Amino acid sequence: MDVDRDLIIIGGGPGGISAAQYAARANLKVMVIEEMAPGGQALIISDLENYPGIPETISGIDFAQLMEKQAIDFGAEFLTASARSIKKEGDIFHIETSKGSFTSYAVIIATGAKNKLLGVPGEKEFTGRGVSYCATCDGPFFKGKKILVVGGGDAACDEASYLSNLSDNIIMIHRRDRFRAQKSLADRVLKNKNIEVRFNHILKEIKGTMKIGSVVFENTETGETYEEEMDAVFIFIGTIPQTKLVPDLPKDEAGYIITDQCMETEVKGLYAIGDVRATPFRQVVVAAGEGAVATHCASQHIDDIKGMSYI
Ligand code: NAP
Repeated sequence: MDVDRDLIIIGGGPGGISAAQYAARANLKVMVIEEMAPGGQALIISDLENYPGIPETISGIDFAQLMEKQAIDFGAEFLTASARSIKKEGDIFHIETSKGSFTSYAVIIATGAKNKLLGVPGEKEFTGRGVSYCATCDGPFFKGKKILVVGGGDAACDEASYLSNLSDNIIMIHRRDRFRAQKSLADRVLKNKNIEVRFNHILKEIKGTMKIGSVVFENTETGETYEEEMDAVFIFIGTIPQTKLVPDLPKDEAGYIITDQCMETEVKGLYAIGDVRATPFRQVVVAAGEGAVATHCASQHIDDIKGMSYI
């Protein structure tokens, strides 16, 4: 049976775009299916400063656009659509999307991860009205205001540093007595005079009428609960892998897809890369590297099916 594409990549973050660029350059007929603008989680990075070879900081949006242009220049195709299902019959994958059905010899899942919600009263009610999960997107609305940042990982430290350029009144709480974040990011926060860090604190409630007026904290060391005026709450407490297209694949205990060193899942020709994959370090550079590896292995798999393998 003829297929529409050699390789279909679902998800257009840095991993997916990198995979597409490598595939197009290797002369594979490749299509990326992405429901939003290409860039994935990288779009919310205000200053990308640790991507090798780019010494000047660059915004995630600009970086994603450069990646996308490079992939398109090599011949990759991008489709704005939602992927609805993936099925395999023989050697062929069938992908149903909001814009029609497609077939391919190999599929790379690069669907990334979404922000975790805290689940406290007021969070849902004030989302978009003071509660945010993206400092670059919403920080400028709260210039000079009192801002709370919740979380203790890389994202929380990164975003708190960004917000400290907009306000000198940032409170940051973390449920433990030290940050989980990489030392360089954690130190930057701890030394920042615009950020007051309160460890052993949890957020109990967000209160207000039309907009946020105050929050309720619990100091978990003392058991004390107290209310404090607040204008905005930025929540960065981790991510949830987006795996609904592949419910049956083996995952780790946190729900991330397990692959071999070729990024191949237990299904031949089906790969997973980037933030949706079980990996010890989620970074733009890691996702991009995984995209290159997956495409390399997918290309060999496609050659096998086409009888073009170099044996
Ligand atoms: P993360 O590393 O999983 O950290 C989540 C943080 O939120 C942890 O400190 C966790 O506390 C806390 N947390 C989780 N659930 C909570 C809850 N219900 N209430 C209060 N606190 C809660 O997630 P992330 O910071 O979003 O990072 C995700 C991935 O992206 C990581 O692999 C990270 O390295 C990467 N990333 C990298 C950069 C960078 O290098 N510049 C920037 C952003 C993200 P515990 O520590 O107690 O578990």
